[in-house]
Amino acid sequence: IHVLSSTHTGQEGDPVDYESKALHISMLDHVCMEAADVAQIVGFKFPTSKADTPIVDLGWGAVDKSKPVILVVGHNPACSTEVIDYLRKEGLEDKVEVCGICCTALETTRYSDKAKIVGPLSRQLFFVRTGIADVIVADEQCIRTDLTIEASKVGSVVIASSDKACRGLEEVSERPTDEVVREMVDQRKHFLILDHRKAAEVAVKAALELAPKRKAEKELMTPEQAKEAAKACKACRNCEQVCPNLLPLMEAVQKAAEGDFEGLKWCFERCIGCGKCEEACTHGVPFQRMFQSVASWETWKCRAGRGPVMDTEIRKVGAPIVLGTIPGVIAFVGCSNFPEEIDEVAEMVEEFARRKYIVVLTGCSAMVAGMRKDKDGLTVYEKFPPDFDAGGVVNIGSCVSNAHISGAGMKIANIFANLPLRANYEVIADYVLNRVGACGVAWGAMSQKAASIGTGFNRLGVPVVLGPHSSKYRRQYLSRKEEDDWTVMDGRKKELVDTQEPTPEHLCIVVESKERAMVTIAKLCMRKNDTPQGRQIKLNHYIDLHKRLIGGLPPDLHHFVRTERDIPMFFKREVLAFLKEKGWQRKPVLSLPTFIGTYPTKVPIEAVIR
Ligand code: SF4
Ligand code: SF4
Repeated sequence: IHVLSSTHTGQEGDPVDYESKALHISMLDHVCMEAADVAQIVGFKFPTSKADTPIVDLGWGAVDKSKPVILVVGHNPACSTEVIDYLRKEGLEDKVEVCGICCTALETTRYSDKAKIVGPLSRQLFFVRTGIADVIVADEQCIRTDLTIEASKVGSVVIASSDKACRGLEEVSERPTDEVVREMVDQRKHFLILDHRKAAEVAVKAALELAPKRKAEKELMTPEQAKEAAKACKACRNCEQVCPNLLPLMEAVQKAAEGDFEGLKWCFERCIGCGKCEEACTHGVPFQRMFQSVASWETWKCRAGRGPVMDTEIRKVGAPIVLGTIPGVIAFVGCSNFPEEIDEVAEMVEEFARRKYIVVLTGCSAMVAGMRKDKDGLTVYEKFPPDFDAGGVVNIGSCVSNAHISGAGMKIANIFANLPLRANYEVIADYVLNRVGACGVAWGAMSQKAASIGTGFNRLGVPVVLGPHSSKYRRQYLSRKEEDDWTVMDGRKKELVDTQEPTPEHLCIVVESKERAMVTIAKLCMRKNDTPQGRQIKLNHYIDLHKRLIGGLPPDLHHFVRTERDIPMFFKREVLAFLKEKGWQRKPVLSLPTFIGTYPTKVPIEAVIR
């Protein structure tokens, strides 16, 4: 708490001290996340040490609105699991639909594979406005502050279940259940209920009573109605000026008024659900309702979160990851403030899984990865194996499950390199930074939590690529590859070596497009420890992606070729000509690179050798 307070406004004034503290706290955040998920795994009997978790339904179209619907929103399943328990006890599990948004959805599907995932945070406003939810159970984090206002517009009722977000509501844990349900059903009142068992009972009873009365409120806007609504537009462009994704909303609405909905559909696929367009429109154009007429109502699939990566899996992949023959572990994590289409993450996941990287996912990114089907109608969760192995696509779980991804990095150091875990973070992080080809991607990061998760990965030596909206964090960890000092200690000879090799080049970088992201991810998976065979594989992906997505050979390629043996066979002639043009010279190849010994530390160089 002391160090966290020192990072607040008006405290630490030096950027290096500030970042040092941010790194330290974020490292501790990973410890807290792990404790939280271990508590969930033990308390709720979530899956653990199991790769083949159930495939669950995903998408707003997956929710059966003919049944009473309870929507759970947030990041803490303490109440949603009570809802499932109550339904099971009363034999109602097949009669009431439980669906979720954000991490509570992921947690709830780890508890019951009958629960459905509606989608990420960016679809919260859209889904609430559909009125499909009879009761909304909110807990904490990533919940819109206007949730009760939006729910009231469609006759849904809200139960706030966490003292972290009381929403100005009366706490009614002590009042008789039937009395509370009555007021919710008759007066559409929202309540705070901190007794989760009671909240669950109230939620189910209220949903059962409300559903038959709310049929009309669940009707979606039709294209004909959307066409009529669009006619209110006066072409002022206020909506466009406030849209964070700069969407061409006016044109889309004007076209919709003529019966052409392509533009509106295009905008919906890129909308992050902030709601600013409606606030700005003084003519009452109901964007989020109009989106109902153009949204895809198909059902996608997501694999339920699996929790920790198993030691047996690490034993199998430790060597190929460290030698570089599995080109990298890529973690898609975090929120849904995406700059373009919602399925960009799915596209990136597919690309890297196909290239035999290990792809792990958490949070909203784990959901959106399932929101794209191939020509055979399969999502990445159905198409790729769920194992922590080359070409696997692994849903680790919710945001707290990120600790299992950093944990996997630590396990590689521990299991493959025999490095002790206890009180040895410096050595483990040094190992991960120099030898484990891993890269995090937070394509839609927007919250403090996502910043902390990313910074915690940075502390462990894992670089992170951020999407363009994350430039608002106003901090990155960038190198200047031409000028910076890339000297490390050769752990075997115990001498300093100028490797002249910027791997990994950055620790935290914002990029502007998915194309640039994919190229950067491939680049940031390179490590000084790569064997020539491993580096060939990694360079093959880097060159191939760059040629296909950006065009031509990467302009900085000469920095990453240490000897001729690093050059991929397929591009050999072209790369040799490029290197000649750049005046390239051979660089040292190390098998035990370490920063220990390059700066003042109590850790002896012997600590990195086992
Ligand atoms: S709700 Fe969607 S369309 Fe409207 S301003 Fe926000 S991002 Fe743009
Ligand atoms: S703000 Fe409203 S009236 Fe103005 S262009 Fe947008 S939709 Fe049309």
